[in-house]
Amino acid sequence: MSTPHEAASPTDEPLANLLFDHTGADIILRSQDSFHFRVPRIYIVNSSPILGRVIRRTSRSLGDANAIPVVKPVVHLPESGEILHCLLTFIFPVTPRVPSTPEEIMELLSVAQKYQMGTAVTHIRGSIARQNSLPARLKPTLHMYALAQKYGLRPEALQTARAILLKQSMTIEDFDNELDIMPGASLYELLKYHERVRAILASDLTKFRMSSARGTITGFRCTELSPSQIPCWLDHYICSIEKAPNRFDLVEFNAAMARHIADRAATASEDLHCDCASIPSQTRSIREFWEALGSVIDGSFEKAEPFLSLVHEYEDPQAEINLAIQTTSPPDIFDVPDANIIIRSSDFVDFRVHKSVLTMASPFFKDLLSLPQPSDSESVDGLPVVELSEDSELLKGLVSMLYPVCTVIPNSYEKVLYLLAACQKYDMVSVQSSIRAEVKRGEFPAPEGAEAFPAYAIAGGKGLVPEMETAARQTLDHPMTFEILGEGLRLFEGWALRDLVNFRKRCRDNFIMCLDSFLEVQPPGPSNIWVGCPNPKVIFSTTHPRQIHFLPIWLNQLLAQNRNDLKYQKFTHPLDIHSRIRQEYFTALQNHATCNFCLGVHIRSGLKFCAELEDKLAQVRDKETVGLLTEAGI
Ligand SMILES: [Zn+2]
Ligand SMILES: [Zn+2]
Repeated sequence: MSTPHEAASPTDEPLANLLFDHTGADIILRSQDSFHFRVPRIYIVNSSPILGRVIRRTSRSLGDANAIPVVKPVVHLPESGEILHCLLTFIFPVTPRVPSTPEEIMELLSVAQKYQMGTAVTHIRGSIARQNSLPARLKPTLHMYALAQKYGLRPEALQTARAILLKQSMTIEDFDNELDIMPGASLYELLKYHERVRAILASDLTKFRMSSARGTITGFRCTELSPSQIPCWLDHYICSIEKAPNRFDLVEFNAAMARHIADRAATASEDLHCDCASIPSQTRSIREFWEALGSVIDGSFEKAEPFLSLVHEYEDPQAEINLAIQTTSPPDIFDVPDANIIIRSSDFVDFRVHKSVLTMASPFFKDLLSLPQPSDSESVDGLPVVELSEDSELLKGLVSMLYPVCTVIPNSYEKVLYLLAACQKYDMVSVQSSIRAEVKRGEFPAPEGAEAFPAYAIAGGKGLVPEMETAARQTLDHPMTFEILGEGLRLFEGWALRDLVNFRKRCRDNFIMCLDSFLEVQPPGPSNIWVGCPNPKVIFSTTHPRQIHFLPIWLNQLLAQNRNDLKYQKFTHPLDIHSRIRQEYFTALQNHATCNFCLGVHIRSGLKFCAELEDKLAQVRDKETVGLLTEAGI
């Protein structure tokens, strides 16, 4: 969060872009885009302790604050003119001005929060509530949630998170086209909150069911009643809300009821009494039940509120300042003789190295060190210091690859990726290729199992294209669900998650197309050899719709079943049909072992057919790539 930059540039010149000119003005606020606001300081000081401090400092730098100022002090603020203008309307007795876009509204709130303007924050929230309620559609709601997380606005984050949970279920499939709206970290917090809400709902709704829905649904006769004497279908409906809060919806409720009534009508019998068909006409009972259910759900959401974490909790600007001045003198852990430069890690560890080594390994350092050093630059023992943003562990690994010493081997693939990223940043091409070679040789760790997901996220974020492609392909061997991603989701940028999902879908489509070519019985289709089985499956050729052709039932089932599974299980199962198909072929053929025709074909060309199927599937999977990293700026 940027803090106000104060500059005591006094002015009494006529002001350009004057947006606010209040009587009795004794200071001028200047926005980052050069808009001016002439205001009495007392209003600002009284409404914001933070701005109060800034104004006092600015005034002091101009001289005695109590003396009648000849010129008005100008206080520079990092916000835009539009945001400051809106903010001031909530401090002065004028008509409040609310920005027009959700982005600006959230920014306004975050600025008021940053300057600790408690009353203004309340007024802004009141104005928003009066002017526009939450959007009805999912996409803008997700967008608002993302903004609330970005600006650290808790009430807005809670309000939108609740609306999202009541609108849709939480699987990757459901988020499909909305994955790039927010970074993985915000999405992760939403999923954690969802888990919490569901746990609380489970306990609250169980009590609700045990109380016969607080007595609102009693006296109905139904073929099946729950232990608390409410119809079973209704009991199941309430249970389903525990798993997916978005089922709390009148359309869902009516659908569940209609299904039950239709089932009963289909199996009507004298002994089975069911009054449920009369429920829709009892609007009062339904309304009471729905209100009772709604209040239980409200209560559960309220209990879950403390469990929604913000990715960017509001930070006290003072804390940032304290952090900035905290410096510690570093232990000297890396020392080479005749060093003539120091590189300092982000955690203040100094590495004494040679300029010549740095410039040979890195054109970046070559350029940097060729520039004249500013006269006030820091030096230790007469050696110039270059501060880098990498931590000491990473620099240790990097420096060890520049000198003929034992290479410091990273202890995880994640660290290998950060090392590669540093090489990318500093243009250390040959060091980068040695690291890649070490990974290939198995000297450096490679990603294992579901580690491929965080590896993809990091490699994508750092623009390491080969690592990103390899990791993406490896993720196909695992289901891709929010549960599998777990905390690793926080490493993802929204676009990276979207791209990985689209990559997975393209691989799935390729598999389906490949299976289709094997379901085709016309020559030159490879399955043509199987035509002639006395126990075939009738299918229509896609290329010759008038002719009827036959594929043995076992083979047809094997291919069609896999094709169908691919449609519905692309996220919940690994996409690894190429490695399973041979085993499945043999199992299916064994179950058809009484057919002499198929056994004959298998003996003649079964293995070749199987190998071709396997190869084609592997090929279509390998030819797909995640593609260009457009949004990573590469
Ligand atoms: Zn019934
Ligand atoms: Zn057969």
